[in-house]
Amino acid sequence: MEPAPRLAAALGLGADDLVIKRDDLIGLGGGGNKVRKLEHTLGAVLRSGARAVVTSGAPQSNHARLTAAAAARLGLQVVLVLEGEPPEEFGGNLLLDGLFGARIVWAGPVGPDDLADRVEDETHALREQGTATEVIPFGGSSVVGARGYVEAGVELLEQVPDLATVVVAVGSGGTMAGLVHALGTERVLGVDTGAVQDAQTRVHDLAVGLAREEGSPGPGPLRIRHEEVGAGYAVLTAAVHQAMSLVARTEGVVLDPVYTGRAAAGLVAAVAAGEIAAGRRTVLLHSGGLPGLFGHPDAGSLLV
Ligand SMILES: *Cc1c(COP(=O)(O)O)cnc(C)c1O
Repeated sequence: MEPAPRLAAALGLGADDLVIKRDDLIGLGGGGNKVRKLEHTLGAVLRSGARAVVTSGAPQSNHARLTAAAAARLGLQVVLVLEGEPPEEFGGNLLLDGLFGARIVWAGPVGPDDLADRVEDETHALREQGTATEVIPFGGSSVVGARGYVEAGVELLEQVPDLATVVVAVGSGGTMAGLVHALGTERVLGVDTGAVQDAQTRVHDLAVGLAREEGSPGPGPLRIRHEEVGAGYAVLTAAVHQAMSLVARTEGVVLDPVYTGRAAAGLVAAVAAGEIAAGRRTVLLHSGGLPGLFGHPDAGSLLV
């Protein structure tokens, strides 16, 4: 947990009102929120006796990179099915995927939902060869994976007992779902990144899945801001650009253009809208993504 007094002041909040939770500093493979989910999903893989995993994502997927890193540490074979065609330069997360020894399969121009078919083909092929293989879902967001963020929510409450709001980027939804399960809907503000079509439904369904396991009631209405998606997941918006500069120049903390930059832009917008107010404790979840900055086509524009 890192206090962010200069960022807080710039937003018109009190110096003690804002804290950054540094899940980007989790010590595996460059860090990030996906590690907490992989603890659970790969735990299940190990218990199943599988020796290989297949997962999917965007070309600059942090989840794919961290699955490759965790698989390396566990001695598992890993196949990453990525959207699109191979780029000319393998920067950012792609470079790290290769370093961790992942085999990359390019799926061509398909949506995230169609990737599942290619994942199935690869899984089938490995099993045919006699390798016990399991699938890690898109973004690591199954009910099992989301348990990593139920634990994070419990941890957060120990660290900040008077927590009013935690702001979190929403991709495949498991992170927000886990936090909602641990903290309730009112204390979790999600910022949609456009990674999936139906962020709201994804988070809701995962939170329902977590609740069902315990026989507790499902979540109430979720708080998700959608306006930071802009022209789409891969596009750096002006608001995100500004938020990234603000956080870098007030706190020396680097955010990424896809996830944490959007979370910070959502925080700025929520303060402006009076949804987040001075005198109450707000946490910005830094969920990682730094390698994605170096693989982003618009990153050069941040120099100005
Ligand atoms: C994947 C990701 C998120 C979103 O997490 P989900 O559980 O997929 O919603 C947020 N920040 C970063 C850096 C990510 O890589």
